[in-house]
Amino acid sequence: MTGISLSTCSIEELDSKPHSDEYRQRIITAKKQLGEKVMILGHHYQRDSIIEHADETGDSFLLARKAADSDAEIIIFCGVHFMAESADILTNDNQIVLMPNIRAGCSMADMADLPDVEACWNELLANSNLLDPATREDAELPAESGSSYLVPVTYMNSSADLKAFVGHHGGIVCTSSNAAGVLEWALERAGENGKVLFFPDQHLGRNTALAMGYNNDDLAVWNPMMEPDWQSLNAAKFVLWHGYCSVHQRFTVDQINDLRDAHPGALIIAHPECDRTVVDAADASGSTEMIRRYVEEAPSGSVIGVGTEIHLVKRLDAQYSDKEVICLDPGVCPCSTMYMIHPAFLAELLENLIEGKIVNQIVVPPQIADDAILALNRMLSIIA
Ligand code: SF4
Repeated sequence: MTGISLSTCSIEELDSKPHSDEYRQRIITAKKQLGEKVMILGHHYQRDSIIEHADETGDSFLLARKAADSDAEIIIFCGVHFMAESADILTNDNQIVLMPNIRAGCSMADMADLPDVEACWNELLANSNLLDPATREDAELPAESGSSYLVPVTYMNSSADLKAFVGHHGGIVCTSSNAAGVLEWALERAGENGKVLFFPDQHLGRNTALAMGYNNDDLAVWNPMMEPDWQSLNAAKFVLWHGYCSVHQRFTVDQINDLRDAHPGALIIAHPECDRTVVDAADASGSTEMIRRYVEEAPSGSVIGVGTEIHLVKRLDAQYSDKEVICLDPGVCPCSTMYMIHPAFLAELLENLIEGKIVNQIVVPPQIADDAILALNRMLSIIA
């Protein structure tokens, strides 16, 4: 994998240089020259100066599907690392996936790594009568009567090797828009006394399970840095990994109350990566795509408080000028890793392509991709 020279610059250095028009023109020129060979994907949390060049925008799953459905030879993913990995897994062998800045990771995805998850998995199996679904002849069928399994579920926001772990052990991937359907699927494969191990985001797992009618006694948290609490782990139906999103963790019930005081009648929607108390206090909760639809469908004149990343909130406010869309957090809360995709990197990446240089390619090794695609396809099969 070749590095890109600008990657040694800090984002602050790049932002401090008044070259935005120059980057914009360079991107437009290079993109025109490359034509349909290249498709640029922009996640909703990207800055406007990236989104304006995107051929498609959306959440991580929607963009991975757009990549898979595209005929473009080169997919440029303006998002974070796990998203580009998923795109590489779902695209065909004739397509390549590149990132403008390979350092753009995700702090939540980094909270669960394969050795820690394997250690948790082995301990949960060793301390229970649960079976590994990998031992079944067909892990995709509902559990046989009397059998109990531990079924792994990973959020899309996880590395490719964790998706492969899940695929190998008869589990499934979920997104924030399909988590309830995925958990139903997993519970059916776990059997009456089985369990689900959900990682890395404890909040998405908790909010989804509680919305499905389970209660707090059905949930236990696995923190790899702490001694396991076997009493609650043994009683739980869902074991939730101790991960969280540093952006969505910032939203609070006090912010919702302040916004309602300032704007009586305001509608509030929070992303399910927010804490349970915030989701409970909001009028609605949903993925970035659902938030976009909620704002679109709100009556004209509405004030809508949104608990998600600031770039999406500001864009929705600009797009729906007959409504006021406000971020719940009065302090700006960009996702610092999404922000690492700077137009300077995109311009340089495109110009390298014109010179025939492939840089910042994301390549998931075939043995990982083969198992990861099992878990992704299980998800696709239940939402088709
Ligand atoms: S918003 Fe949160 S989950 Fe999404 S990329 Fe940023 S840190 Fe990761």
